[in-house]
Amino acid sequence: MKVHKFCKPYCITNGKKFKLKDFNPADTDGFKPGKNLDERIAQGTRELQKWQDKLYAQDRWGLLLIFQAMDAAGKDGTIKHVMSGINPQGCQVFSFKSPSSEELNHDFMWRCMKNVPERGRIGIFNRSYYEETLVVRVHPEFLKNQRVPAPLITKNIWKERFEDITAYERYLSRNGVKVVKFFLNVSQKEQKKRFLERLNNPKKHWKFSAADMQERQYWKDYMAAYEDMIRHTATEESPWYVVPADDKLYAHLVVGAAVLHALEEINPTYPEVSQEQMKRIEAAKKELS
Ligand code: ATP
Ligand code: MG
Repeated sequence: MKVHKFCKPYCITNGKKFKLKDFNPADTDGFKPGKNLDERIAQGTRELQKWQDKLYAQDRWGLLLIFQAMDAAGKDGTIKHVMSGINPQGCQVFSFKSPSSEELNHDFMWRCMKNVPERGRIGIFNRSYYEETLVVRVHPEFLKNQRVPAPLITKNIWKERFEDITAYERYLSRNGVKVVKFFLNVSQKEQKKRFLERLNNPKKHWKFSAADMQERQYWKDYMAAYEDMIRHTATEESPWYVVPADDKLYAHLVVGAAVLHALEEINPTYPEVSQEQMKRIEAAKKELS
């Protein structure tokens, strides 16, 4: 059975009518934790390995997977899951945190542009240039740190950011880098539960951050920013997946399926061997035997 049927309901290729409230963070499409779900996930992982091998061998296309989410939505675990199925040689992961002073000396896309995956590789962005339209939009005072010239900060700034991001992703896709974006859609209730786990379990204390608590107060503003971002930047060539993330395993299934779908669309094949190369292969076989 095609695994990617699991990601289809959450795929946005045209954001015009997108409304976040139509997407239930707790959706599991009837899947219950257990054998059934584990088997599907394992099947997806095996298929992923096969596709990645071809992508790497063909060495033409790159695949960029972008992950955005509220804190404790499970970005790290999901990335670990995607990675578990693939050859580390063909994969690169980058995390984008609060920008450094060097990064603040450049335009907001600079630090991401430098790390777009090479041909044949899968690149993973843990946060990305989309933070500009999320955390910076929710806290516009951050624009000051960026030293963007004042006349450029107008009421149109977010619309312009969306235009620039869309244009950049179109550019990448026209150059052979497919961009697929994931919003791990966790509910505020589930986030509270996970924060409490971090506070109550000593093994999870290291994950607790007072800053995360702070950002939780801006939940509504963030949701409005996510909705507007998806409305403006979901396209046929670079879709957004709004992944239900209250159930971690189901989120892994959906993301895995979406990655498979992207690879199927790229449809990489092993390079054809020329007649001359074939002759060399035959000669080498003879020599060795
Ligand atoms: P984890 O907490 O799992 O280690 P994380 O991605 O949440 O991973 P943190 O260091 O906790 O990493 O948080 C990074 C913070 O940096 C986030 O709050 C994010 O919003 C912020 N950030 C990312 N990009 C920007 C940006 N361009 N401007 C301002 N803040 C940013
Ligand atoms: Mg964090």
